[in-house]
Amino acid sequence: MLLKILGVGEPILRTQAKKLTRTHLAKPEIQQLIDLMIKTMRDHPGVGLAAPQVGESLQIIVIEDKKDYQKHLQPKLLKEQGRVPLPLSILINPRIKVLNSTVLHNFEGCMSIQGYRAVVPRAANIVVSGWDRYGKQIRITASNYHARILQHEVDHLNGVLYIDHMISKTFMGEKYFSKKWARVGAEKIKNIIK
Ligand code: ZN
Repeated sequence: MLLKILGVGEPILRTQAKKLTRTHLAKPEIQQLIDLMIKTMRDHPGVGLAAPQVGESLQIIVIEDKKDYQKHLQPKLLKEQGRVPLPLSILINPRIKVLNSTVLHNFEGCMSIQGYRAVVPRAANIVVSGWDRYGKQIRITASNYHARILQHEVDHLNGVLYIDHMISKTFMGEKYFSKKWARVGAEKIKNIIK
């Protein structure tokens, strides 16, 4: 079974998601929700998914960036974007701390805003703390693309979408993005936003 992904316009995508207690997290229905979120993210495939996107106003995110998703991109581009394969991470009640003022620009899309992309500035270096799916405290230090995915997903838990942070003149259709921008490095992206 896969979960239905809600599109922008649904009020739940603009709502602050609820924190989980360890008792709530241990419930079979929550553990099943996490499994289905992973399955749904992989089916799409996407690099991250937040519970409000599947209609659950809860502070749960899953992220994963498989090597397979990156194989059509040149190593030089991946290096420039600071994009490396990321193992599956499940984060409950995540909180972000920005480590310094370095900001990077790159394109983002969202499973809840199908068919579009835009350049979004994001903090380059962050620390995320929260729990794993068993309620164990975890702390993830992330940079570059990893930090971007985490900020995008944690935003979902606060009712925030990438379109709230995007450089609006870079907003474009997925088709045009694939044709013209998907293989373009950070330097060129920097030039179009000037
Ligand atoms: Zn999203």
